[in-house]
Amino acid sequence: MTEGRPSRRVERPTLRVTIVTDDRVVYDGLAESVSAPATLGMVTILPLHVCFITTLEPGELTVRWQGEASYYAISGGFLEVRDNEVTILGDTVERAEEIDVARAEAARQRAEVLVHTARGRPEYLAGLQALRRSRARLRVAQRVRR
Ligand code: ATP
Repeated sequence: MTEGRPSRRVERPTLRVTIVTDDRVVYDGLAESVSAPATLGMVTILPLHVCFITTLEPGELTVRWQGEASYYAISGGFLEVRDNEVTILGDTVERAEEIDVARAEAARQRAEVLVHTARGRPEYLAGLQALRRSRARLRVAQRVRR
């Protein structure tokens, strides 16, 4: 019989997530999970994750909270997890809604030309990185423009 017993609601642990660049705070709030493009592959952080630190590559960040997902393009950076706190320091980060698609498309085209014409020259690597940034932005922008 359970009548009269005090209810024992178990609080589900959550993550506190901060996403910053050197000039702004992009996200500061709670989350059920965070997915990020770590250098060794995509990682998804859930509450109670062990302490963890990784570098990030150009790609897509996803923050999930109360059934909603928010999407961000990141051009690289660091992610640290400690005591249910996730801190992401991005070189550049844009929310999906902020991405200027025409600009990203122009950047992608410039980078493709560079990658095809500068092989063996120092600009080649810069072209590859620019290509990865622009592709990430275009992919993330699609999340809110379908
Ligand atoms: P571009 O050649 O278009 O400047 P980029 O990859 O060289 O692209 P970054 O140096 O990574 O640009 O970013 C410079 C600043 O512009 C950052 O603040 C970044 O958030 C912002 N930014 C870059 N591309 C876009 C975009 N397509 N939409 C919105 N903001 C962007």
